[in-house]
Amino acid sequence: MKNTCPICDTGTLCERLEYQTVPYKGFQLNVPVTLSRCGHCESNSVSGIQLLKNKQTCMAMKASLTAHLNQITASSF
Ligand SMILES: [Zn+2]
Repeated sequence: MKNTCPICDTGTLCERLEYQTVPYKGFQLNVPVTLSRCGHCESNSVSGIQLLKNKQTCMAMKASLTAHLNQITASSF
């Protein structure tokens, strides 16, 4: 399936993974974000599915950090 860029209507969108730093509870989370980049105009776009996936990844990382912090707190007492 060819994924044509909606912005320039010429290039093809290529799915790629980028890392975004998200501050959370005083920590910096390096969250992998899926997006599509056009090979022609180099604009980035995120589809609804990608957005949902990114949100889930971010939430999972926050949850695991919280669990980790709780573990540290629990073991220090
Ligand atoms: Zn384009």
